[in-house]
Amino acid sequence: MRYVSTRDAALSATLSEALKRGIAPDGGLYVPERFPHLGVALFEGATRLPEVATRFLAPFFEGDGLDAEMPAIVREAFDFPVPLVPLPTPEDASVLELFHGPTAAFKDFGARFLAACLGRLHRGAGRTLTILVATSGDTGGAVAAAFHGRPGIEVVVLYPRGLVSPRQELQLTCWGGNVKSLSVAGTFDDCQRLVKAAFADPALAARRELSSANSINVGRLLPQACYYVKSSLATFRRTGRPANYIVPSGNLGNVLACVWARRIGLPVGEIVLAFNANRTVPDYLATGDWQPRASVATLASAMDVGNPSNMERLRHLFPEWDDLRGALSAVSVSDEQIRARIRTDHARLGQTWCPHTATAAEVYAGLGERRRAAGPWVLVSTAHPAKFPETVEPLIGAPLPVPPALERLLSLPKHVTEIPATLEALAGAVLA
Ligand SMILES: *Cc1c(COP(=O)(O)O)cnc(C)c1O
Repeated sequence: MRYVSTRDAALSATLSEALKRGIAPDGGLYVPERFPHLGVALFEGATRLPEVATRFLAPFFEGDGLDAEMPAIVREAFDFPVPLVPLPTPEDASVLELFHGPTAAFKDFGARFLAACLGRLHRGAGRTLTILVATSGDTGGAVAAAFHGRPGIEVVVLYPRGLVSPRQELQLTCWGGNVKSLSVAGTFDDCQRLVKAAFADPALAARRELSSANSINVGRLLPQACYYVKSSLATFRRTGRPANYIVPSGNLGNVLACVWARRIGLPVGEIVLAFNANRTVPDYLATGDWQPRASVATLASAMDVGNPSNMERLRHLFPEWDDLRGALSAVSVSDEQIRARIRTDHARLGQTWCPHTATAAEVYAGLGERRRAAGPWVLVSTAHPAKFPETVEPLIGAPLPVPPALERLLSLPKHVTEIPATLEALAGAVLA
């Protein structure tokens, strides 16, 4: 399998090249050159995530230097559970819990898989590989956790000072060792601009081999597709019907993996995107007018994206607006609705949602009885509520128990360097 740029099919790369480059040389995003058909029968007897993932990923690794190591990469990356938990509702609905990894958000799947791949690709190389990552919250912690302690690789995380939640900040700064955490006097956009400037800086490139682990790397989408394959198979085996998904969305990486799973032939039915007040995509589906804009801050901050980068991959799959509208639907949810949904479902279902997952729960409630009954539905839960106690605890009126893995991270000492938002300061910190 080769991977091609969304902007030019002639610019193709092996999987290993696409993983290392992140972005294609023309600024496009890598996508598989074709989608093989993998029906339900191929997965007979496979129920656990590593077994399902190994069969699903085989054609995507075929012909690549990492092919023989893929099963080991899968076992190493997916070493935590992915439960599909039934909800006590009259209709058939379940929650796909993606928060059982080391940093309690779904970003762990992509980060751990990418780390397992890049660790192998870089093995034996003389020079240290420096991974730069700008984060608005969850990505940086997941990437730091995944690469922490890997020989020959160093991670530099940039986050906007004062603009991430206290628990997110602890997850960004608790590492030390081969992880440098930089608290930048600026916004997330400043952090992203600095990372881009570092890649374009010849003086830095001469002294360090740089790579990125941001959300556009194809090495984050392939592992995310695995949990859609697994949960759609489980739902189909149980009910004989395809699973319909509701996915909390920002940069569209998570939902794109769901679309890929359906395209390949897995039993996925409707795909509904849940957005917060950042309504670029819902407005586009309603009007056909693509109007990217500055993001607005919401309670579901990891979804505060005004110009989602994976739109380019969705467009590549569905070039016509009508085709895209036929393939997905999207609903925007306000902060007020997020608060009310967390309160209501805590009381009604005994479920505690994180603010991101609450957007999916709200969209589910708003489907109406007839559509809910036409399930099965799967609500995708993207983070553990204990990552957001400031929001969730006052709404449910109780303290949230912290998962042990998260608890351990939160108790570690902080390692952080404060820098101004300049390339000079970033280069100094990278080379220090
Ligand atoms: C990143 C993130 C999202 C949004 O996912 P995308 O792939 O950017 O659409 C949703 N919820 C949580 C908790 C996240 O960390």
